[in-house]
Amino acid sequence: MSIVSKRILVTGGAGFLGSHLCERLLEAGHDVLCVDNYFTGRRANVAHLLDSDRFELMRHDVTFPLYVEVDEIYNLACPASPVHYQHDPVQTTKTSVHGAINVLGLAKRTRAKIFQASTSEVYGDPSVHPQPEEYWGNVNPIGIRSCYDEGKRCAETLFFDYHRQHGLEIKVARIFNTYGPRMHPADGRVVSNFIVQALKGEPITIYGEGLQTRSFCYRDDLVEGFIRLMATGAEVTGPINLGNPGEFTMIELAEAVIDLTGSASQLTFLPLPADDPKQRQPDITKAREVLGWEPKVNLRDGLTHTIAYFDQLLKEIG
Ligand code: NAD
Ligand code: UDP
Ligand code: UDP
Repeated sequence: MSIVSKRILVTGGAGFLGSHLCERLLEAGHDVLCVDNYFTGRRANVAHLLDSDRFELMRHDVTFPLYVEVDEIYNLACPASPVHYQHDPVQTTKTSVHGAINVLGLAKRTRAKIFQASTSEVYGDPSVHPQPEEYWGNVNPIGIRSCYDEGKRCAETLFFDYHRQHGLEIKVARIFNTYGPRMHPADGRVVSNFIVQALKGEPITIYGEGLQTRSFCYRDDLVEGFIRLMATGAEVTGPINLGNPGEFTMIELAEAVIDLTGSASQLTFLPLPADDPKQRQPDITKAREVLGWEPKVNLRDGLTHTIAYFDQLLKEIG
């Protein structure tokens, strides 16, 4: 089968999900331009791709204009962990909003197809469960999570207005909690925190009573969803939920991690952060129908791969 090679821009390409996406696109025979300001991403995540003639890495902040010639754009640039996106909240909103304007301007000039990594956070602390795409969400506009939630909501608005006003071909994915190898050990998200704590024999930090729920998708499943969404015809714009419908409490997650690592770590209970959503589970009916996609990797298998990655990493960094 012959492959039509495309020039593809991945913003946030040196991050956890972006680096996997770059890898998948190169494997499929495309030219990949990875753009990142290394706020939460690392050159090490893409170091193994630098030997390829078809891979190019550029340090650039998406809040500034970017003039390059491309056929497709995946816009992933944005810190995703609450610890990091709350570190400089103004920059977080700028990254989502100014970043979206710049990549949409680029797509308008080049007529590139453009994908937006949106988030389940647009549903806020949801009063509808599980969350279908039609649900408009329950988001605090002025809280500590708002820079991320409202930034991503505004980016969705911009995508749909560029679509309606300028005829851009857009693909908006609402991503639910995703985990896997190449997450940063100090990322601050629950899966990496629990695994690193269990491997070090440190207390596992449960925020609140640990009865809040999340649905965890393994990164390979998710990236497959990105690629299928980008391959759809112009009539498919999204938004479309991508995530694993398996729903777990944070206590259940901690127990699974302790079991799989054989750790002697105990649970310790810390205050629940403000506006922390109580429950979250994707309704993926649309992804099943439109993309023929559903996750294949269950939580225990995905955790096993992720634990092996962190185990190796901790041995390397001591
Ligand atoms: P990540 O923090 O590993 O990756 C984000 C990348 O964006 C990093 O490499 C970072 O350096 C880069 N970046 C941040 N600000 C930038 C800027 N101004 N200019 C250029 N690069 C910038 O996080 P991730 O989990 O890989 O998330 C990737 C995308 O997916 C993000 O947009 C995130 O909001 C979205 N998402 C992720 C999840 C998840 O569970 N992993 C869930 C929902 C949405
Ligand atoms: N832009 C960019 N690269 C391009 C084209 C545009 O970064 O190849 C940026 C530019 O900064 C511009 C923004 O995208 O301000 C929005 O572009 P658009 O054409 O929609 O608006 P205008 O240029 O009229 O402000
Ligand atoms: N959480 C926890 N311990 C940690 C980190 C997070 O109990 O060490 C909780 C957090 O309060 C939230 C859930 O785990 O209820 C998921 O947190 P994460 O930051 O991974 O993602 P998000 O809240 O953005 O879904």
